[in-house]
Formats: sequence, C-alpha cells, structure tokens
Amino acid sequence: MALSGIQIYKMLPQTNCKECGFATCLAFAMKLAAKQAELDGCPYVTEESKAALAESATPPIRLVTLKGKAGEAKAGNEVVLFRHEKTFYNRPGVFIRVLDTEDDEVIENKVRTGSSYSVDYVGMELRIDGFAVEAASGDRTRLATVVEALRASTGLPLILVGSDPAVLSGGLDKLEGEAPLIMGADTSNWEAMADLAAGRGAALGIRGGSIEELAQLSEKIKEKGVEDLVLYPAVDSMSASLALNTQIRRLALKNFRPLGYPTIAFAAASGDQGRESLMAAQAICKYAGFVVIDTFAPELIYPLLVLRENIFTDPQKPIQVLPALYEINSPGRSDPVLVTTNFSITYFSVANEVEGAGLPAWLLVTDAEGMSVLTAWAAGKFDAESIAKAVKQFGVADKVDQKWIVLPGHTAVLSGELEEELPDWVIKVGPREAVDLPGYMRQVLN
Ligand code: SF4
Repeated sequence: MALSGIQIYKMLPQTNCKECGFATCLAFAMKLAAKQAELDGCPYVTEESKAALAESATPPIRLVTLKGKAGEAKAGNEVVLFRHEKTFYNRPGVFIRVLDTEDDEVIENKVRTGSSYSVDYVGMELRIDGFAVEAASGDRTRLATVVEALRASTGLPLILVGSDPAVLSGGLDKLEGEAPLIMGADTSNWEAMADLAAGRGAALGIRGGSIEELAQLSEKIKEKGVEDLVLYPAVDSMSASLALNTQIRRLALKNFRPLGYPTIAFAAASGDQGRESLMAAQAICKYAGFVVIDTFAPELIYPLLVLRENIFTDPQKPIQVLPALYEINSPGRSDPVLVTTNFSITYFSVANEVEGAGLPAWLLVTDAEGMSVLTAWAAGKFDAESIAKAVKQFGVADKVDQKWIVLPGHTAVLSGELEEELPDWVIKVGPREAVDLPGYMRQVLN
C-alpha cells in the first residue's frame, strides 16, 4: 500500500540538510508520496528505510523494454497523469504493422522505407521505433519466413501479433537474443502464452475488453513468472479506448499493481488514413506506451512524431541549443550578424528561414537559459550587456569587416544600449518574425 508523506517522513533522516534539493525532509517526503521525486535524491536514507520504502519508491507503471538487434523501445515508468505535474518519461514507441499474408514485395517496401525514415526536427532526429508482424496466415513457417526477411532489412524492435503460441514461436525462433513483445494473451490462451514468453525472454501483451479482465489476467500471468507485461484495452470505439486507457493510468498511479503496466494501442482503421491518424494521436496523448499503425506514409508519421515530442518533452526544461556563433550558408567578412537566443525553436526558426533563402549570415546565439527572445528579454536574460558579452566571447569582431549586427524586431528597445556597449558596430533592428528575415536581409542589408 502506498505510504503517506508523514509515514515516509518518519523514515527519513530528518536533518533538513537540503541535499535532495528540497528545503526540508518533510517537503521531500511529500514529493516522494506524490511520486514526484526519487528516493535516490536523499543520500542518507538507511538500508532499512530503503527496504521499507521500496513500495513507495517503485514506479507505479513498470518499465518494459523491447530490444531488437539495433535499438530499444521503452515504455512505462510514468508517475503522473498530466505532464505539467512533472513530466512524461518514455515516448510511446511507434510501430508499423505488416501482415504475414501480404506479398513479400509489399512487406519489404514498407519495412525498408519505414526503417530508413528519418527527419530532423529542431535538432532532434525523429524516427519510428519498430515493426509489428501479425501472424494473419496462421502458418508458423510463413511467420518465420517473414520475420527472417524483416531482420535482413532492419534491426529495430519487433512485436509479434497472434493468438496461437505454436505459430508465434516460429517467429520467435528468428529473434534469438532479442526481447520482442508477443501480443496477445487472452482468457483462452494465457497459460500457453505465458509459458512461451517466459521461455523466450519476451514481454507479453494481454488483450482484454475491460479493466477487470485485464487485471485478472495480469495477476495470473505474473504468478507464472512473466514480469514484463503490456495491456491492450481491446475496445471498438475511440471514446471507449480513451476511457479505458485513462482509467488504467489513474488506477496504476494509485498503486493498483495489476494495472501497473504500459498499454498498447492499435490504430487500425481499414485504410481510412484520417481516422488512423486520429486514433494514433489519441493514443500518444492518452496514454499508450506502444502505438501500432498500419499505414507508413510520411504525411501521417511526421505529425505523430512531432506530437509525441511535444507531449514528452519536459515542460520544466526548455529545449536549448549551445550558445555560439553559427555559420549559415558559408558567410564571409561582409555578411551580417543576426542575434537570437538559445531557445531551440527560436534558433531553428531563424536558421531555417535564412538557410532556406540561400542567404549567408552569421547567427550569434546568446545564452538566455533556453528562453525565447521575448521571454528572455522580459526576464532580463537577453539585454545589451549579454549580447555584447557574447560578441566578445565568440570573437565575432574577428570574423567580419562590416560590423552590422541585427537585433530581433521585438527587442528594438535594446538598440540604444547596445550602441553604447558596442560602439564600433552598426546596430540594425530586424523584423519581428523569422519568416520576414529573408525579405529584410535582401532589402535592408544589401
Ligand atoms: S537529503 Fe535527505 S536528509 Fe537531507 S533534507 Fe533531503 S531528505 Fe532530508
């Protein structure tokens, strides 16, 4: 049973040394009780207390890791219902499903294009996480052949989908040394599926149409020695799926152990790409650990991967780039110096506009603790002093003959002070929006 903050407090050293980052042991205990801190944060907890607190320190949702020959997909370890309470930790793995009844060429094409898909998004590489192979043929040999062919083109983690353990074992034979997910155990086959998963070191997906069914099955399967479980709330409508996934997350966070596992969602919509996209988006937001989609198409995948990034970035940590002087399109000594902050999206907005327009420029990125231009200016992190400091720190004056520096339009108010800080420079005020930079550079700086 989960312990209260006061119960946890009684097992802490009670010295209020602050090394855990909290002002008092009681504050730390309250955060532990709310699953918003890790016990490791206090270096002085005794072994005896650690053992007693183990339950409270155990994440309410088990971490399940699928391993392929090249890569892993992790799900679970989440501790909150809403990301603003703390953060979400493990991005749901996006898997593309192939059927073993499809033509070899169709499968090969889907796997090759899917596994090589990669897109740069504000400095992050977005990719899919693996493939799901459905044993639709019911033929052990066919499944084995498809898995073997798939392994020749990709090492990404795999999910094997089917209800017959004898058939699925044919696919598992080709995944020696890996940790795939086999999907799915239900009321009719759970014992044999549990034996198969336990014998092959695979995670096991459980299919059930209600909370009660999933909880009962997970307890029985756990008793057979399978710890890595994934729950599949198998319902028809999106609203029912949303309700079940939310209930599972809520109960898991209340330490109801039979539901303390990541979930999986299948966004299958019989060729309706719009609906498939909606189902997958819902699953990413609430609260799937793995999302399986049927269609591989960049216009479907890209927004899902971007959505995933937006949901799973830590809201307390701005995404930053390194403060530095960046070169765009091989600038020369007469090209302008643009200034911005080190908030990642701000940097990439400016850099992409200028680079895409084919215009050479120096881009001076100041250390504004990852804040955007206006926020940093309002917080006193982007001012004439910090810009002048960056100009000196990165030796900008040594790179150019024509000393033109362009302020973001929103901070035109800084131009007077910057003239005082950098008397050798001509201070220009650029546009407010990055999208207007190319036009401004062509008209004003030439
Ligand atoms: S580090 Fe441990 S002893 Fe120190 S304040 Fe935090 S909980 Fe208390």
